[in-house]
Amino acid sequence: MGRPLRACISIPALQHNLHRVRALAPGARVWAVVKANAYGHGLLNAMEAFGAADGLALLEFDAAQRLREAGWQRPILMLEGPFEPADVALARRLRLTLALHDPVHLDWLAMHPALGEAERLDVWLKFNSGMNRLGMRAPVLRDAYDALAAAPLAAQAAAPLAAQVRLLAAQVRSVGLLTHFANADVPGGIDQAWPAFVAATQGLAGPRSASNSAAIIDHPATHGDWVRPGVMLYGATPFASRDAAGLGLRPAMRLDSELIAIQTVSAGESVGYGSLFTADAAMRIGVVACGYADGYPRHAPVGTPVIVDGRRVRLAGRVAMDMLMVDLTDAPGARVGSPVQLWGDRLPIDEVAQAAGTIGYELMCALAPRVPVVVERSDG
Ligand SMILES: *Cc1c(COP(=O)(O)O)cnc(C)c1O
Repeated sequence: MGRPLRACISIPALQHNLHRVRALAPGARVWAVVKANAYGHGLLNAMEAFGAADGLALLEFDAAQRLREAGWQRPILMLEGPFEPADVALARRLRLTLALHDPVHLDWLAMHPALGEAERLDVWLKFNSGMNRLGMRAPVLRDAYDALAAAPLAAQAAAPLAAQVRLLAAQVRSVGLLTHFANADVPGGIDQAWPAFVAATQGLAGPRSASNSAAIIDHPATHGDWVRPGVMLYGATPFASRDAAGLGLRPAMRLDSELIAIQTVSAGESVGYGSLFTADAAMRIGVVACGYADGYPRHAPVGTPVIVDGRRVRLAGRVAMDMLMVDLTDAPGARVGSPVQLWGDRLPIDEVAQAAGTIGYELMCALAPRVPVVVERSDG
Protein backbone atom coordinates (compact mmCIF):
# COMPACT_ATOMS: atom_id res chain seq x y z
CA MET A 1 0.00 0.00 0.00
CA GLY A 2 1.23 3.45 -0.86
CA ARG A 3 4.82 4.39 -1.47
CA PRO A 4 6.93 1.23 -1.42
CA LEU A 5 9.93 2.56 0.50
CA ARG A 6 10.43 1.04 3.95
CA ALA A 7 13.19 0.35 6.47
CA CYS A 8 13.20 -3.15 7.93
CA ILE A 9 14.83 -3.56 11.33
CA SER A 10 15.87 -7.10 12.25
CA ILE A 11 15.68 -7.89 15.97
CA PRO A 12 17.52 -11.23 15.46
CA ALA A 13 20.36 -9.41 13.68
CA LEU A 14 20.69 -6.91 16.56
CA GLN A 15 20.74 -9.82 19.02
CA HIS A 16 23.32 -11.67 16.95
CA ASN A 17 25.59 -8.63 17.00
CA LEU A 18 25.25 -8.31 20.78
CA HIS A 19 26.34 -11.95 21.02
CA ARG A 20 29.39 -11.05 18.90
CA VAL A 21 30.27 -8.36 21.44
CA ARG A 22 29.91 -10.87 24.29
CA ALA A 23 32.14 -13.36 22.48
CA LEU A 24 34.80 -10.71 21.86
CA ALA A 25 34.69 -9.24 25.37
CA PRO A 26 33.64 -12.16 27.59
CA GLY A 27 34.84 -10.58 30.81
CA ALA A 28 33.21 -7.18 30.41
CA ARG A 29 29.74 -5.85 31.00
CA VAL A 30 28.08 -4.19 28.02
CA TRP A 31 26.60 -0.74 27.66
CA ALA A 32 24.73 -1.04 24.36
CA VAL A 33 24.98 2.43 22.83
CA VAL A 34 21.54 3.58 21.63
CA LYS A 35 22.17 7.28 21.00
CA ALA A 36 20.68 8.97 17.93
CA ASN A 37 17.53 6.84 18.02
CA ALA A 38 19.71 3.71 18.22
CA TYR A 39 21.71 4.78 15.18
CA GLY A 40 18.45 5.18 13.29
CA HIS A 41 17.08 1.73 14.23
CA GLY A 42 14.49 3.00 16.72
CA LEU A 43 15.04 3.38 20.46
CA LEU A 44 12.41 0.88 21.55
CA ASN A 45 13.44 -1.65 18.90
CA ALA A 46 16.93 -1.48 20.36
CA MET A 47 15.63 -1.80 23.90
CA GLU A 48 13.74 -4.92 22.86
CA ALA A 49 16.72 -6.44 21.05
CA PHE A 50 19.28 -5.55 23.72
CA GLY A 51 17.33 -6.92 26.67
CA ALA A 52 20.38 -9.00 27.53
CA ALA A 53 22.71 -5.99 27.72
CA ASP A 54 23.87 -4.86 31.16
CA GLY A 55 23.01 -1.26 30.42
CA LEU A 56 22.12 1.20 27.67
CA ALA A 57 24.12 4.32 26.85
CA LEU A 58 22.99 7.47 25.09
CA LEU A 59 23.08 11.21 25.57
CA GLU A 60 19.52 12.44 24.99
CA PHE A 61 17.62 12.93 28.28
CA ASP A 62 14.20 12.70 26.61
CA ALA A 63 15.15 9.33 25.15
CA ALA A 64 16.43 8.15 28.54
CA GLN A 65 13.06 9.07 30.01
CA ARG A 66 11.31 7.09 27.28
CA LEU A 67 13.45 4.05 28.10
CA ARG A 68 12.41 4.25 31.76
CA GLU A 69 8.75 4.71 30.79
CA ALA A 70 9.04 1.67 28.52
CA GLY A 71 10.28 -0.37 31.45
CA TRP A 72 14.08 -0.46 31.12
CA GLN A 73 15.24 -1.14 34.69
CA ARG A 74 18.99 -1.54 34.29
CA PRO A 75 21.56 1.24 34.19
CA ILE A 76 21.38 4.02 31.60
CA LEU A 77 24.64 5.85 31.03
CA MET A 78 24.43 9.45 29.88
CA LEU A 79 27.54 9.67 27.70
CA GLU A 80 27.75 13.46 27.62
CA GLY A 81 26.67 13.98 31.21
CA PRO A 82 24.42 16.82 32.32
CA PHE A 83 23.98 19.75 29.91
CA GLU A 84 22.64 22.04 32.64
CA PRO A 85 22.27 21.85 36.43
CA ALA A 86 18.63 20.73 36.24
CA ASP A 87 19.73 17.59 34.42
CA VAL A 88 21.21 16.38 37.71
CA ALA A 89 17.77 16.43 39.30
CA LEU A 90 16.35 14.59 36.29
CA ALA A 91 19.14 12.02 36.53
CA ARG A 92 18.31 11.42 40.19
CA ARG A 93 14.63 10.98 39.40
CA LEU A 94 15.25 8.59 36.50
CA ARG A 95 18.21 6.82 38.14
CA LEU A 96 20.55 7.72 35.30
CA THR A 97 24.28 7.13 35.43
CA LEU A 98 26.16 10.32 34.55
CA ALA A 99 29.47 10.73 32.77
CA LEU A 100 31.06 13.83 34.29
CA HIS A 101 33.53 15.39 31.89
CA ASP A 102 34.04 18.84 33.40
CA PRO A 103 34.65 19.93 36.99
CA VAL A 104 31.66 22.27 36.80
CA HIS A 105 29.49 19.16 36.92
CA LEU A 106 30.56 18.69 40.54
CA ASP A 107 29.09 22.09 41.38
CA TRP A 108 25.87 21.05 39.62
CA LEU A 109 25.73 17.88 41.75
CA ALA A 110 25.85 20.06 44.86
CA MET A 111 23.15 22.39 43.47
CA HIS A 112 20.71 19.49 43.26
CA PRO A 113 21.70 17.41 46.28
CA ALA A 114 20.48 13.91 46.89
CA LEU A 115 17.47 13.84 49.19
CA GLY A 116 18.27 10.38 50.45
CA GLU A 117 20.35 7.30 49.92
CA ALA A 118 18.22 6.27 46.92
CA GLU A 119 19.02 9.51 45.09
CA ARG A 120 22.75 9.02 45.14
CA LEU A 121 24.09 8.79 41.62
CA ASP A 122 26.46 6.42 39.93
CA VAL A 123 28.92 8.65 38.10
CA TRP A 124 31.85 8.10 35.76
CA LEU A 125 34.64 10.62 35.46
CA LYS A 126 35.73 11.07 31.88
CA PHE A 127 39.40 11.33 30.99
CA ASN A 128 40.57 13.23 27.91
CA SER A 129 42.92 10.70 26.32
CA GLY A 130 43.83 12.85 23.35
CA MET A 131 40.63 13.38 21.43
CA ASN A 132 40.35 16.85 23.05
CA ARG A 133 36.60 16.77 22.82
CA LEU A 134 35.09 15.80 26.19
CA GLY A 135 37.02 14.87 29.28
CA MET A 136 39.38 16.07 31.98
CA ARG A 137 43.15 15.87 32.00
CA ALA A 138 44.84 13.88 34.73
CA PRO A 139 45.26 16.45 37.54
CA VAL A 140 41.70 17.76 37.17
CA LEU A 141 40.32 14.24 37.01
CA ARG A 142 42.17 13.22 40.16
CA ASP A 143 40.91 16.27 42.04
CA ALA A 144 37.36 15.47 40.97
CA TYR A 145 37.84 11.87 42.00
CA ASP A 146 39.17 12.87 45.41
CA ALA A 147 36.22 15.20 45.94
CA LEU A 148 33.66 12.54 45.07
CA ALA A 149 35.28 9.51 46.59
CA ALA A 150 36.34 11.10 49.84
CA ALA A 151 33.29 10.23 51.90
CA PRO A 152 35.10 8.04 54.40
CA LEU A 153 37.82 10.67 54.81
CA ALA A 154 35.38 13.49 55.29
CA ALA A 155 34.38 12.26 58.69
CA GLN A 156 37.92 12.83 59.93
CA ALA A 157 38.73 15.99 57.96
CA ALA A 158 39.05 19.47 59.44
CA ALA A 159 35.70 21.15 59.99
CA PRO A 160 35.23 23.67 57.10
CA LEU A 161 36.75 21.32 54.55
CA ALA A 162 34.74 18.42 55.91
CA ALA A 163 31.42 20.11 55.24
CA GLN A 164 32.25 20.71 51.57
CA VAL A 165 33.70 17.26 51.08
CA ARG A 166 30.82 15.55 52.83
CA LEU A 167 28.32 17.39 50.70
CA LEU A 168 29.84 16.22 47.44
CA ALA A 169 30.60 12.72 48.59
CA ALA A 170 27.01 12.29 49.71
CA GLN A 171 25.86 12.87 46.14
CA VAL A 172 27.26 9.71 44.63
CA ARG A 173 27.05 5.99 45.20
CA SER A 174 29.94 4.97 42.97
CA VAL A 175 32.63 6.52 40.80
CA GLY A 176 33.87 4.90 37.59
CA LEU A 177 36.55 6.01 35.16
CA LEU A 178 36.08 6.19 31.42
CA THR A 179 37.66 7.51 28.27
CA HIS A 180 36.87 7.53 24.56
CA PHE A 181 39.48 6.88 21.88
CA ALA A 182 40.01 9.18 18.92
CA ASN A 183 41.71 6.52 16.78
CA ALA A 184 40.83 3.02 17.96
CA ASP A 185 40.04 2.09 14.33
CA VAL A 186 43.57 2.58 12.98
CA PRO A 187 46.70 0.52 13.69
CA GLY A 188 48.67 1.97 16.59
CA GLY A 189 45.81 4.39 17.21
CA ILE A 190 45.66 3.84 20.97
CA ASP A 191 49.41 3.61 21.59
CA GLN A 192 49.40 6.91 23.46
CA ALA A 193 45.80 7.16 24.59
CA TRP A 194 45.58 3.86 26.45
CA PRO A 195 48.75 4.23 28.56
CA ALA A 196 47.69 7.80 29.31
CA PHE A 197 44.34 6.56 30.66
CA VAL A 198 46.02 3.82 32.69
CA ALA A 199 48.47 6.31 34.20
CA ALA A 200 45.82 8.95 34.90
CA THR A 201 43.65 6.47 36.78
CA GLN A 202 46.47 4.54 38.50
CA GLY A 203 45.60 3.65 42.06
CA LEU A 204 42.02 4.94 41.85
CA ALA A 205 39.39 2.39 42.81
CA GLY A 206 36.37 1.94 40.57
CA PRO A 207 35.29 0.32 37.31
CA ARG A 208 36.92 1.24 33.98
CA SER A 209 35.36 1.71 30.52
CA ALA A 210 37.20 2.62 27.33
CA SER A 211 36.24 0.42 24.39
CA ASN A 212 34.02 1.46 21.50
CA SER A 213 33.36 -1.03 18.68
CA ALA A 214 36.80 -0.70 17.10
CA ALA A 215 38.56 -1.22 20.45
CA ILE A 216 36.30 -4.16 21.34
CA ILE A 217 37.42 -5.86 18.13
CA ASP A 218 41.08 -4.82 17.95
CA HIS A 219 42.21 -3.88 21.46
CA PRO A 220 41.14 -6.51 24.00
CA ALA A 221 43.55 -5.06 26.58
CA THR A 222 41.25 -2.05 26.85
CA HIS A 223 38.02 -3.94 27.57
CA GLY A 224 38.08 -3.24 31.30
CA ASP A 225 34.83 -3.59 33.25
CA TRP A 226 32.34 -2.16 30.75
CA VAL A 227 32.56 -1.95 26.96
CA ARG A 228 30.51 0.53 24.90
CA PRO A 229 29.68 -0.93 21.48
CA GLY A 230 27.70 1.19 19.07
CA VAL A 231 28.02 0.72 15.35
CA MET A 232 28.91 -2.98 15.49
CA LEU A 233 25.61 -3.73 17.22
CA TYR A 234 23.87 -2.42 14.13
CA GLY A 235 25.93 -4.58 11.81
CA ALA A 236 28.21 -1.98 10.26
CA THR A 237 31.98 -1.78 10.44
CA PRO A 238 33.95 0.76 12.48
CA PHE A 239 36.89 0.28 10.10
CA ALA A 240 37.61 1.90 6.74
CA SER A 241 38.83 -1.26 5.06
CA ARG A 242 37.40 -4.29 6.87
CA ASP A 243 33.82 -5.22 6.11
CA ALA A 244 31.12 -6.07 8.62
CA ALA A 245 30.56 -9.62 7.34
CA GLY A 246 34.23 -10.40 7.88
CA LEU A 247 33.82 -9.24 11.48
CA GLY A 248 30.95 -11.68 11.97
CA LEU A 249 28.30 -8.95 12.07
CA ARG A 250 24.85 -8.98 10.49
CA PRO A 251 23.21 -5.86 9.05
CA ALA A 252 20.22 -4.90 11.19
CA MET A 253 18.70 -2.37 8.80
CA ARG A 254 17.45 -2.92 5.26
CA LEU A 255 16.30 0.00 3.16
CA ASP A 256 13.97 -1.52 0.56
CA SER A 257 11.88 0.03 -2.18
CA GLU A 258 10.60 -0.67 -5.68
CA LEU A 259 10.87 0.64 -9.20
CA ILE A 260 7.98 3.03 -9.80
CA ALA A 261 8.78 3.86 -13.44
CA ILE A 262 11.07 2.92 -16.30
CA GLN A 263 12.40 5.19 -19.05
CA THR A 264 14.11 4.11 -22.23
CA VAL A 265 16.87 6.47 -23.32
CA SER A 266 19.13 6.60 -26.38
CA ALA A 267 22.87 7.19 -26.46
CA GLY A 268 23.54 10.84 -25.67
CA GLU A 269 20.39 11.44 -23.62
CA SER A 270 20.73 12.57 -20.02
CA VAL A 271 19.00 11.69 -16.76
CA GLY A 272 17.83 13.71 -13.77
CA TYR A 273 18.56 17.17 -12.37
CA GLY A 274 21.61 18.80 -13.83
CA SER A 275 21.79 16.09 -16.51
CA LEU A 276 24.61 14.60 -14.45
CA PHE A 277 24.42 11.21 -16.21
CA THR A 278 24.46 10.81 -19.97
CA ALA A 279 23.77 7.40 -21.52
CA ASP A 280 26.63 6.09 -23.67
CA ALA A 281 24.27 3.59 -25.31
CA ALA A 282 20.57 2.91 -25.49
CA MET A 283 19.46 1.70 -22.06
CA ARG A 284 16.58 1.43 -19.67
CA ILE A 285 16.56 3.74 -16.65
CA GLY A 286 14.76 2.60 -13.52
CA VAL A 287 13.15 5.14 -11.18
CA VAL A 288 13.33 4.17 -7.49
CA ALA A 289 11.07 5.53 -4.76
CA CYS A 290 13.84 6.81 -2.45
CA GLY A 291 15.53 10.19 -2.30
CA TYR A 292 17.54 12.44 -0.06
CA ALA A 293 14.45 13.36 1.96
CA ASP A 294 14.45 9.71 3.03
CA GLY A 295 18.06 9.82 4.17
CA TYR A 296 19.73 8.53 1.03
CA PRO A 297 22.87 10.64 0.50
CA ARG A 298 22.39 13.28 -2.20
CA HIS A 299 26.13 13.34 -2.85
CA ALA A 300 26.19 9.63 -3.87
CA PRO A 301 27.89 9.72 -7.26
CA VAL A 302 26.95 8.02 -10.50
CA GLY A 303 28.03 4.41 -10.13
CA THR A 304 27.00 3.95 -6.49
CA PRO A 305 25.66 0.37 -6.20
CA VAL A 306 21.94 -0.37 -5.91
CA ILE A 307 20.27 -3.81 -5.96
CA VAL A 308 17.37 -4.12 -8.42
CA ASP A 309 15.56 -7.40 -8.93
CA GLY A 310 18.44 -9.16 -7.18
CA ARG A 311 21.04 -7.67 -9.54
CA ARG A 312 23.66 -5.10 -8.77
CA VAL A 313 23.14 -1.97 -10.87
CA ARG A 314 24.52 1.55 -10.71
CA LEU A 315 23.07 4.87 -9.71
CA ALA A 316 22.56 7.06 -12.77
CA GLY A 317 22.16 10.79 -12.25
CA ARG A 318 21.71 13.03 -9.26
CA VAL A 319 19.71 11.79 -6.28
CA ALA A 320 16.53 13.87 -6.00
CA MET A 321 14.40 14.59 -2.94
CA ASP A 322 12.02 11.66 -3.45
CA MET A 323 13.50 9.54 -6.22
CA LEU A 324 16.72 8.24 -7.63
CA MET A 325 17.49 6.65 -10.97
CA VAL A 326 19.51 3.59 -11.92
CA ASP A 327 20.93 2.12 -15.11
CA LEU A 328 19.05 -1.16 -15.69
CA THR A 329 21.49 -2.61 -18.23
CA ASP A 330 22.49 -5.36 -15.78
CA ALA A 331 18.92 -6.08 -14.65
CA PRO A 332 17.15 -6.95 -17.91
CA GLY A 333 14.19 -8.55 -16.14
CA ALA A 334 13.41 -5.45 -14.08
CA ARG A 335 9.85 -4.10 -14.34
CA VAL A 336 7.78 -1.48 -12.56
CA GLY A 337 7.28 -3.00 -9.12
CA SER A 338 10.60 -4.89 -9.12
CA PRO A 339 12.19 -4.97 -5.67
CA VAL A 340 15.03 -2.57 -4.91
CA GLN A 341 17.48 -2.63 -2.01
CA LEU A 342 19.36 0.57 -1.23
CA TRP A 343 21.33 -1.13 1.57
CA GLY A 344 20.93 -4.15 3.80
CA ASP A 345 21.62 -7.88 3.64
CA ARG A 346 22.40 -7.83 -0.10
CA LEU A 347 24.35 -4.59 -0.16
CA PRO A 348 26.40 -3.52 2.88
CA ILE A 349 25.56 -0.02 4.07
CA ASP A 350 29.29 0.56 4.41
CA GLU A 351 29.73 0.02 0.67
CA VAL A 352 27.11 2.63 -0.18
CA ALA A 353 28.67 4.96 2.39
CA GLN A 354 32.13 4.53 0.95
CA ALA A 355 30.87 5.28 -2.55
CA ALA A 356 29.23 8.43 -1.20
CA GLY A 357 32.31 9.56 0.71
CA THR A 358 30.92 8.94 4.18
CA ILE A 359 30.59 6.14 6.76
CA GLY A 360 27.84 3.65 7.53
CA TYR A 361 27.21 5.44 10.83
CA GLU A 362 26.04 8.58 9.05
CA LEU A 363 23.70 6.80 6.65
CA MET A 364 21.93 4.80 9.35
CA CYS A 365 21.54 7.83 11.61
CA ALA A 366 20.16 9.87 8.71
CA LEU A 367 17.22 7.57 8.01
CA ALA A 368 14.36 10.07 7.78
CA PRO A 369 11.28 9.97 10.01
CA ARG A 370 9.01 9.75 6.94
CA VAL A 371 10.30 6.27 6.09
CA PRO A 372 7.96 3.61 7.51
CA VAL A 373 9.75 1.10 9.73
CA VAL A 374 8.93 -2.59 9.74
CA VAL A 375 10.24 -4.63 12.67
CA GLU A 376 11.20 -8.25 11.99
CA ARG A 377 11.18 -10.54 14.99
CA SER A 378 12.28 -13.72 13.30
CA ASP A 379 14.70 -14.53 10.51
CA GLY A 380 12.55 -14.67 7.42
C1 LIG B 1 29.12 6.72 20.23
C2 LIG B 1 29.99 6.32 21.37
C3 LIG B 1 30.41 5.00 21.51
C4 LIG B 1 30.13 3.92 20.47
O1 LIG B 1 31.02 4.09 19.39
P1 LIG B 1 31.00 3.08 18.14
O2 LIG B 1 32.17 3.51 17.32
O3 LIG B 1 29.70 3.32 17.43
O4 LIG B 1 31.12 1.72 18.70
C5 LIG B 1 31.12 4.67 22.65
N1 LIG B 1 31.44 5.62 23.57
C6 LIG B 1 31.08 6.90 23.44
C7 LIG B 1 31.48 7.88 24.48
C8 LIG B 1 30.36 7.30 22.34
O5 LIG B 1 30.00 8.58 22.21
